[in-house]
Amino acid sequence: MENLSNIGVIKDLMKRYGFSFSKGLGQNFLINPTVCPKIAEMGNAKEGFGIIEIGTGFGVLTCELAKRADKVVAVEIDSRLIPVLSETLAEFDNVKVINDDILKIDLASLIRQEFNGLDVAVCANLPYYLTSPIIMSLLELKLPIKTITVMVQKEAGVRLCTPLGTREAGAITVAINYYAKARRLFDVKRGSFMPPPNIDSCVIQLEIKDTPPKVSDEKFFFETVKAAFSQRRKTLVNSLSSYFNLSKEKVITVVKSVGLKETVRPEQLQMDDFISLADSLKSAYDF
Ligand code: SAM
Repeated sequence: MENLSNIGVIKDLMKRYGFSFSKGLGQNFLINPTVCPKIAEMGNAKEGFGIIEIGTGFGVLTCELAKRADKVVAVEIDSRLIPVLSETLAEFDNVKVINDDILKIDLASLIRQEFNGLDVAVCANLPYYLTSPIIMSLLELKLPIKTITVMVQKEAGVRLCTPLGTREAGAITVAINYYAKARRLFDVKRGSFMPPPNIDSCVIQLEIKDTPPKVSDEKFFFETVKAAFSQRRKTLVNSLSSYFNLSKEKVITVVKSVGLKETVRPEQLQMDDFISLADSLKSAYDF
């Protein structure tokens, strides 16, 4: 169906299907006609690709993805939208809509079953309340996907794409950089949505690394990152010492052994620093 970004078309669908927006499900539908084609083009919706879409709404982005990619599997939690999608996506035979929670679906088997032989990418205008859980679970599952291209709140987008070693970096920045290369593609004003949210948004892209950096114990690596940022604005030594219940002297020895100053703050560290720090802590104290 054309013109799903047209307010008249949206209002007509809402009336005919008795639909009202759910704030709790993060339902801010796109009404700016330039945005979805851009997400689709930049998000790898093209020949040879299968796309997973998270949260279809009325299908405005789904249509743009289906026009370009070989196949689209769209996951939408709100069962009230399923009959609407049967109408709005009727012209496409390469779209499968799954009525489920993206965080509960077995995405690894979905990819195996639905995208045989295709490269896979994720595209979405994310429900904002689930931005970090969705992105982190997509990354941690180590799915065979090339890119994740998603609309998020602007503040979150800036934080997710900030380089390591800068003031805004946090534990999530390290996690993102571990699995992917992140960049902010373009900004989107709040008036591009219906209903408009309180703040502006942006589209970010995570390009998944073929292989994540080499660490001796991945679980402990992430534990160290969590420990490092456990007390915002404190020194690395203070945070590690209280998190792991180790004396400051012991932590200082490890921190210095990997070439860092004892006054360093966690947001100043690069990926290699976190890796050597975790490896040294583990071998020194048998975590
Ligand atoms: N793609 C549409 C658009 O751009 O107009 C809708 C985007 S809206 C920001 C987010 C969508 O995600 C809503 O349709 C909402 O119902 C759906 N959603 C919310 N939580 C979800 C979840 N856990 N799993 C799947 N879909 C979810």
